[in-house]
Amino acid sequence: MSSRREVAKHQNVTAAVHAEGGKICMQILHAGRYSMHPLLVAPSPLKAPISPFKPWGMSQRLIRATIDDFANAAALSREAGYDGVEIMGSEGYLINQFIAPRTNHRKDDWGGSFENRIRFPLKIMRKVREKAGKDFIVIFRISMLDLVDDGSTWEEVEQLAFAIEAAGASIINTGIGWHEARVPTIATLVPRGAYIWVTKRLMGKLKIPLIATNRINTPEKAEEILREGFANIVSMARPFLADPDFMRKAQSQQADEINTCIACNQACLDQIFRGKTASCLVNPRACKEFTITSPPITSHQSTNHQSTNHHKVAIVGAGPAGLSAATELAAMGREVHLFEASSEIGGQFNMAKRIPGKEEFYETLRYFGKMIEKNGVVLHLNTRVDADFLIKNNFSEVVVSTGVVPRTPNIEGITHPKVLSYLDVLLHGKPVGKTVALIGAGGIGFDVAMFLTDHKSESINNHQPSIINHQSIPHYQSEWGIDQTYQHRGGITKPHPEQPERQVWLLQRSKGKVGERLGKTTGWAHRMTLKSRKVQMWNEVVYLKVDDAGLHITVHGKPQLLEVENVVVCAGQESMRDLYAPLVTAGVKVHLIGGAKEAAELDAKRAIEEGYLITTSNY
Ligand code: FAD
Ligand code: NAP
Ligand code: SF4
Repeated sequence: MSSRREVAKHQNVTAAVHAEGGKICMQILHAGRYSMHPLLVAPSPLKAPISPFKPWGMSQRLIRATIDDFANAAALSREAGYDGVEIMGSEGYLINQFIAPRTNHRKDDWGGSFENRIRFPLKIMRKVREKAGKDFIVIFRISMLDLVDDGSTWEEVEQLAFAIEAAGASIINTGIGWHEARVPTIATLVPRGAYIWVTKRLMGKLKIPLIATNRINTPEKAEEILREGFANIVSMARPFLADPDFMRKAQSQQADEINTCIACNQACLDQIFRGKTASCLVNPRACKEFTITSPPITSHQSTNHQSTNHHKVAIVGAGPAGLSAATELAAMGREVHLFEASSEIGGQFNMAKRIPGKEEFYETLRYFGKMIEKNGVVLHLNTRVDADFLIKNNFSEVVVSTGVVPRTPNIEGITHPKVLSYLDVLLHGKPVGKTVALIGAGGIGFDVAMFLTDHKSESINNHQPSIINHQSIPHYQSEWGIDQTYQHRGGITKPHPEQPERQVWLLQRSKGKVGERLGKTTGWAHRMTLKSRKVQMWNEVVYLKVDDAGLHITVHGKPQLLEVENVVVCAGQESMRDLYAPLVTAGVKVHLIGGAKEAAELDAKRAIEEGYLITTSNY
């Protein structure tokens, strides 16, 4: 928002929000040394560890011009109909780079002492207030916990908050962690509400309201934070991608119908970092509202359940793909019969939810369970169906969402009793020894390694009922070295990783870094966790044979014997779609989705999206 030309475009947004009774503030963010641009600028010419470029140190003239730019953007945003702005002073962006000694090595009036380092944010705050007017909302986001060396002390955070309030802020928001911090702050493995204690430290000290952030994804959590005095306001972002009706459902006591953000980042942040449009794994409509249209799969849709066979749809397999298709088709008025061979819905999500740090996956199953009930899907659990049954029962259409079966690699001794599949470990709770080699280091290999090296896995292994969100905040803080007492600048201390009871080897045949295909914004945290748990991650492995002695391999061409008690196979999957051909031959209209369609590169994002897409004209 640097010129008047942009105002009209923004008015489309503000008008739409106001028409729904909402208020909207525009965030003003200067990325400083995080800019993906060779001409990036910063207080000092210090390269960020996550950037390929070294920034140019800002001249005093540029600093003054940048302050004016912030104020100009705020004034223009007012013209565009915004109710306020948020000044992004955290996450390691430009303003934060001035505040912290880590990135501000200047010797002039803009660096050195604390007073000098906070001159830039204070001047921005004052100028924004002056240009945008007294009655304009100005939220200032302060980094209250930097999670990097040479960040701010708590005393500095407090002093800055007082000064920002005095300079005219309306609200202070909590920023947590710089982007270069090696602590995950928003991923699924971060417990819900893991950072509300930070905001609480400031509560009662200022006159203006405070906002709590990070991993707040349900109305219940939000209410708890407000009720227990952790903050005056809560903020959420990704939960509104997952469910745009979040607020309406929360207000009308239908929280159990909310499609909960599971903090996976797979379809939102990971997409953005690949230069693609954001969407949402659990809500494939997100950000595609105008590119995907929804006429029914065929012309014979009905709006009630008094359907003839012509409208009777069978869905085979209640994994994410089948659940998504069932929800959509039933919402369109079809008579939907959902057949599931096992005793519960969810398919592979029933394994994913058991991985420590992935407890949020329960929520997706809760949501789909509620939706199929609400939309009148007839659910047949413990029912494995075959093609004959489907043909005899005259379904007008059949959706084959039967998923995948684990691949069994062709290795000598693969039937040895010490060889288990990931299903044996995660689903059937088979006992696993203290030394384990994992064949395959994809997403599932990583998850199995996480499971086997986590203290919680024993109870899960014994099939104790797991509870939602049993992630413990103290355990997370200790594992990642987050220090609530701020002994050191930035609030970090020495991490105390899990001391696993097992020695695990995670193996792959290919050359690249182990885990390099994991999610862009979360993969590094998985790799760090396993490294801290002393999991051996080896590439360029050739599997020779399994016998009583263990797993015989070569590593980079050198023979080696891993004397392990168990070998767990996590070598990908193959599609299961034996129903498909006979149905096609019998002339039944069949849709093939999810893992049944294609096992390679399958993930829940694709499975859920394909279930949705069959109901649209984009299919
Ligand atoms: P499935 O989930 O395999 O479901 C198929 C269903 O069909 C099963 O319930 C099966 O019982 C049923 N079925 C099969 N044949 C019949 C029949 N003849 N009659 C009746 N029912 C039948 N993906 C991600 O995107 N992100 C993650 O973080 C992630 N983590 C994972 C962690 C683990 C441990 C695992 C195992 C998987 C993970 N995945 C993840 C992958 C994701 O779960 C799958 O991509 C997704 O479940 C595929 O969905 P689907 O519906 O195609 O198949
Ligand atoms: P995957 O990611 O394709 O990994 C399969 C692994 O098995 C690879 O390491 C592969 O590496 C190895 N492999 C393949 N064929 C083999 C063979 N014949 N013999 C020995 N090794 C073989 O599959 P996955 O781990 O089963 O995961 C399935 C899907 O679920 C993935 O698409 C993934 O995206 C998704 N998932 C995602 C997450 C997440 O956190 N986002 C978590 C779990 C699962 P080499 O060929 O190099 O040996
Ligand atoms: Fe949340 Fe994952 Fe959807 Fe992003 S993709 S909004 S993290 S559920």
